[in-house]
Amino acid sequence: MNVLLIFPRFNPNSFWSLKAACDIYGARCPAPPLGLITLAALLPPEWNVRLVDRNAEELEPADLDKADLVMTGGMLPQRWDALQVIELCQARGKTVVVGGPDATSSPEVYAGADFLVLGEAEGIIDEFVQAWRSGKRRGRFAAQKFKVDVSKSPIPRFDLITSKRYLYVGVQFSRGCPFNCEFCDIIELFGRVPRAKTNEQMLAELQALFDIGYRGHVDFVDDNLIGNKKALKLFLPALAKWQAERGYPFMFSTEASINLADDAQLLEMLGKANFFAIFVGIESPDTKTLIAAQKKQNTRRSLAESVHKIYAAGMMVLGGFIVGFDTEEGDVAPSMIDCIEATGIPVCMVGLLTALPGTQLTRRLEKEGRLLPFDNLTSGDQCTAGLNFVPARSRKAILEDYRRILTAVYRPAAYFGRVQRMGLQLRSPDLPSEPGTPPAPRISKRDLVALLKVMMRMTFVRWELGPLFWRTFVGTARRNPAALQAVVTQMVLYLHLGAFARIVVREIDRQIDALERQPDSERLPKAA
Ligand code: SF4
Repeated sequence: MNVLLIFPRFNPNSFWSLKAACDIYGARCPAPPLGLITLAALLPPEWNVRLVDRNAEELEPADLDKADLVMTGGMLPQRWDALQVIELCQARGKTVVVGGPDATSSPEVYAGADFLVLGEAEGIIDEFVQAWRSGKRRGRFAAQKFKVDVSKSPIPRFDLITSKRYLYVGVQFSRGCPFNCEFCDIIELFGRVPRAKTNEQMLAELQALFDIGYRGHVDFVDDNLIGNKKALKLFLPALAKWQAERGYPFMFSTEASINLADDAQLLEMLGKANFFAIFVGIESPDTKTLIAAQKKQNTRRSLAESVHKIYAAGMMVLGGFIVGFDTEEGDVAPSMIDCIEATGIPVCMVGLLTALPGTQLTRRLEKEGRLLPFDNLTSGDQCTAGLNFVPARSRKAILEDYRRILTAVYRPAAYFGRVQRMGLQLRSPDLPSEPGTPPAPRISKRDLVALLKVMMRMTFVRWELGPLFWRTFVGTARRNPAALQAVVTQMVLYLHLGAFARIVVREIDRQIDALERQPDSERLPKAA
């Protein structure tokens, strides 16, 4: 039995495609498909499994010819390619199974596939295998929602990936988030009671990654790593010990809610385990908006002070911001730009509010008759394809605000200024070391090559960035050398993000222009 796992393509030029960073680090795309390699580990051991990641390699006809069964699926931005994969397979007479988050949220889109396996794979894959073995060649299976015991989830098949093709590798500790943000699809897919793996299980996963020779950046893909603080606080000391015993082979990033800043013990534990970057959903500086979006954890605090506490614990912050909420009054650009500058977050994912399938926001907008078709969303991201509903204030005003924010925060001087300020605030965490272990490796060969490449590129190719780059580099080296690696990483990211922001601004200009040229009768209706 030969199974071919195919990971569909993302749009190669989106915020998270990190193109220039991939070039600098010699990677083909950001990360391998954790979901598919976990699925591979759940299949019967006697089945031969091969993986083709379309973001990193071509799918050859011969790959399909050898397969008895194809399994595919991914997220909403991969939908366009997942549908192509299904067509390609069926044209060659192959049976296709589709699963993953997008199929789970919008199964009707994938009705053409032979099998739909919906929900968390651990809860349903055995039923599919049984059906396949009994000769069924079509069917639909759905896991019971939020019931999978992740402590029984197997070690992902890291042996199926070629790690040097990627910037980082993902692992997962928990699923679900206790919060209730209106626009969030995570709580619809994984529930609001976070389910965590055991310490032994998680360390066995990391050991498997270590054993295939991987070193460097590992991302905990949890949507909110601190969702189950109790389990996390039990795990982090074990992780710190594991890291120290091996000379810190990995540096970690993750996503967490901003209340992380309120827990000094947790911050210290993360630092000791060698976490270096946290993505935080900040969304809006406006309290009324945060309350309406049910993001109350972000209220009753200074967002800037909270972010600075995370810097002080040695971790850089990447922030998510959203424009287009119903509660926005007038011009939101100045307050959002001020908020971004005050937090000093260099990498800001500023997106347009998007009603994702299956969310509370989508259900509300549908009830209010304001939902528009999802079409654009299936290949783009929330930077250019959001606002898929009739907004409360003028669409043109929202797009103009959005354009202003992007232009301001991705101006080279503004971005590098934030990098420098962040660099000065980052404290190097005191990594504990076990007797007899080597000191923590600070810079790998890959990092060193990347550093030389970025120096050359900033000096001779993007020479207009050269003075900013060198000022930030030398300033950090003098005043806080421990932050140099983080600072260089952020400057590398600018090579992609600066260029991407300009593409988005051009697209937003085009959308504004189209709105202006539309006759009044064709304009989208305003919300009541
Ligand atoms: S904190 Fe993040 S993961 Fe949790 S509900 Fe809100 S948006 Fe979703």
